[in-house]
Amino acid sequence: MGEIRENCLKILSEIPPGVTVVAAAKSKSAQEIREVVDAGITFIGENYLQESQVVIGAIGDRAVWHFIGHIQKNKARQIVPLFDMIQTVDTFALAALIDQLAGKHGKVMPVLVEVNSGREEAKHGAMPEAVADLVRQMSVLENLRVQGLMTMGPFLDDFTGLRPFFRETKALFEELRALNIPNVRMETLSMGMSDSYCIAIEEGATMVRIGTKIFGERSY
Ligand SMILES: *Cc1c(COP(=O)(O)O)cnc(C)c1O
Repeated sequence: MGEIRENCLKILSEIPPGVTVVAAAKSKSAQEIREVVDAGITFIGENYLQESQVVIGAIGDRAVWHFIGHIQKNKARQIVPLFDMIQTVDTFALAALIDQLAGKHGKVMPVLVEVNSGREEAKHGAMPEAVADLVRQMSVLENLRVQGLMTMGPFLDDFTGLRPFFRETKALFEELRALNIPNVRMETLSMGMSDSYCIAIEEGATMVRIGTKIFGERSY
């Protein structure tokens, strides 16, 4: 059995029901991604438009495609029609642009709001304090649907230090859910990567994004 297939089956056997695995596939070929899909992980995360055009062209509807990278405004026009979900919306301006583009394609774009749970100046994501207002603003956009939150957390030497950031993001997720904002469905909490997904699941993640543990080490 191939190594990628083996990795997928092991992860799928360990993940509790109700948690979705997204294979974070940056730098990986269509052939490698196909192995993942064949093993039963059908949610694929992509970070870069150009790479994703190649692999989505090759694999298409056999997978569900999530954009998990930072969106440059000039790339949104091509990203919106290509993807099934965008996990990295962090400003109203970006949300409004996605809404406008989705409308042109007759599509309602599911999105997650990216939270800068580490409150780091240089990182993407909305500050936790700003997320509720952002979600309220976004809720009036007709061609976009907020379906939850995503966070990376700070880069730490010891990944166990991520737990409080995951916990705070889960609390924010529950707060927002309790607000029952019209047109907003708080159902997906995307957090945890290869080192940290077990902790993230303990802290309430419903979706984890795993790259290295599926595909092996990558060069970028
Ligand atoms: C690369 C990436 C991952 C996966 O990282 P690994 O440590 O390789 O599992 C998850 N989320 C995002 C946004 C990424 O860019």
